[in-house]
Amino acid sequence: MIKAISSLRKTLVLPLHLHIRTLQTFAKYNAQAASALREERKTPLYQNGDDEYVDLDWDNLGFGLTPADYMYVMKCSKVGEFTQGELSPYGNIQLSPSAGVLNYGQAIYEGTKAYRKENGKLLLFRPDHNALRMKLGAERMLMPSPSVDQFVNAIKQTALANKRWVPPSGKGTLYIRPLLMGSGPILGLGPAPEYTFIVYASPVGNYFKEGMAALNLYVEEEYVRAAPGGAGGVKSITNYAPVLKALSRAKSQGFSDVLYLDSVKKKYLEEASSCNVFVVKGRTISTPATNGTILEGITRKSVMEIASDQGYQVVEKAVHVDEVMDADEVFCTGTAVVVAPVGTITYQDKRVEYKTRDESVCQKLRSVLVGIQTGLIEDNKGWVTNIN
Ligand SMILES: *Cc1c(COP(=O)(O)O)cnc(C)c1O
Repeated sequence: MIKAISSLRKTLVLPLHLHIRTLQTFAKYNAQAASALREERKTPLYQNGDDEYVDLDWDNLGFGLTPADYMYVMKCSKVGEFTQGELSPYGNIQLSPSAGVLNYGQAIYEGTKAYRKENGKLLLFRPDHNALRMKLGAERMLMPSPSVDQFVNAIKQTALANKRWVPPSGKGTLYIRPLLMGSGPILGLGPAPEYTFIVYASPVGNYFKEGMAALNLYVEEEYVRAAPGGAGGVKSITNYAPVLKALSRAKSQGFSDVLYLDSVKKKYLEEASSCNVFVVKGRTISTPATNGTILEGITRKSVMEIASDQGYQVVEKAVHVDEVMDADEVFCTGTAVVVAPVGTITYQDKRVEYKTRDESVCQKLRSVLVGIQTGLIEDNKGWVTNIN
């Protein structure tokens, strides 16, 4: 136990590269966090070279919640400006029963990851894009948002404070979840009088229980995910509970996820519950064009760029469901799912199978993307940020 506490101290004072304010925040929480952790975490730490890891079964990470030690919290009053936030031990937060988020769903989230390089150091992948997307989402949901700098700084601090929770290279990643919510009380429908920005993290492995195996998708014809003029294009929390019914029905029938169709003609592909979709035919890769009903994935955008670099013709357009049934390959993209091959799609009474061999387009694009994200492939696009 003494060893555990002394190595914990060492970890807490490690981020020397951070600026002074951060160090003061760390100092403030150092004693407090150490004592909280003495109470809560009796798990021993083990050494791995110079580095330290929490004691987790790194070989069997799924996408469950295993909260890392620290979260970042920043508040915004009626004035509309976020002031300096700080790290605190991960734990419950207090909300009024009349908080805007609880009653009217005024909240958006983001999802990004910290990747560990083979040398043990940490990388972030395009966190400024998450920051910008949160800003746009906040505008749509009538919320103030952190500046891009505040957002990226919060992600960095959360990743560094939880460094011991970032899985070894090749075993998984630290999933980082920024959340912006109307935390102030309000009774009549309207924007909340106060906002809270929270960033927490959890080590994760594969998103789907299929692991790296191909997904079986079901084309949903009854429920829609988003409609023109709605908020499908932003990561509003209000987009997710309504798909649970379709998702759980599909899962109970053995499918991995649902593919949603456009709400007007119910003939054009939109996306899956939490990832974008791509269709391959010959050297052409098509993906549904974003028009406000589809979430503009950062992985989607990155994969499109990688695919054009590789000489594929990349097309954003309305993708008819018949075209999907006639494709060579289909795959999904997202921070959580990375680039996942689709093995079958079921639409009405038809089930089609796709290629999922080793030399597939999906595998090729995935390996370039993951290579850049984990520092194995040199990043000549300015996509990755070293944070220690
Ligand atoms: C988050 C999300 C995606 C993927 O976006 P990334 O930025 O690539 O993680 C796609 N679709 C939906 C519905 C999402 O919520």
